[in-house]
Amino acid sequence: MKKAAALLVLTMTVAFAGCGSTPQADGTSAESNADLEAGTEVSEAQDSEGEDVLADGVLTVGTNAEFPPFEYVGDDGEPDGFDIALIKAIGDKLGVEVEVENMEFDSLVASIGSKIDVAIAGMTVTDERKNMVDFSDSYYEAVQYVLVPMETGIAAAEDLAGKTIGAQLGTTGDIMIEDFEGATAKQYNKAVDAVNDLIGGRLDAVIVDKNPALVFADKFSDQIQYMDFSFEPEDYAIALPKGDTALADAVNGALAELKSDGTFDELVSQYIEN
Ligand code: GLN
Repeated sequence: MKKAAALLVLTMTVAFAGCGSTPQADGTSAESNADLEAGTEVSEAQDSEGEDVLADGVLTVGTNAEFPPFEYVGDDGEPDGFDIALIKAIGDKLGVEVEVENMEFDSLVASIGSKIDVAIAGMTVTDERKNMVDFSDSYYEAVQYVLVPMETGIAAAEDLAGKTIGAQLGTTGDIMIEDFEGATAKQYNKAVDAVNDLIGGRLDAVIVDKNPALVFADKFSDQIQYMDFSFEPEDYAIALPKGDTALADAVNGALAELKSDGTFDELVSQYIEN
């Protein structure tokens, strides 16, 4: 398992070396690594740089399984959903086992490099997060929706001014609330708890990503509805340790393969369009 992973990384390093690679930290270039003939020498070199998180054969992945259909707790009590299936398929391509850690959304980014190797959680690429982590190629386009009660005076984004608005702590929906003048932000560890407060009349609105918004609006269709105010589109990507280009190349390579072999589209129809 370990060897297979190292060889795959080697193959990808070679593949990427051909299209203009970046110099390595120790001053050697990826091209000179590619020139080495024995795979073991290369994997030792990578180990000594402390970069090869795949070398132990396990990719530890953080998520927050409170974001259907991307991640939720399945009937067996284990995290399931589009993101979980996607990262497992990436693990298969890379020849490593995927172990999923369910944690608070707000601690995912800070845990990369210690508790977890990478995070997949319907996470939007933002400049602020890019100060702490790198992102894979984007795999899904999203947008924030607004959930409101059936009886509401909110019909446009401007109407959110002065309102009490709920969101999951640390999400792009949460960060957006300050854009609405005089609005009061209420933060929750789980979006569904915000939805419960909306139903209970303790909030005027909840801001949450489109696909979970559709799931919640469908689940509580007698009490709440969703609104699309055409906010800025967002891109979901996998959060990766900063500066680990070998891992980023491996993950992006696997993602590209899953897109071209049809697996990605199958997962979209199984988990999202279903
Ligand atoms: N896309 C949003 C963000 O990245 C929400 C993600 C989530 O709640 N899992 O902040």
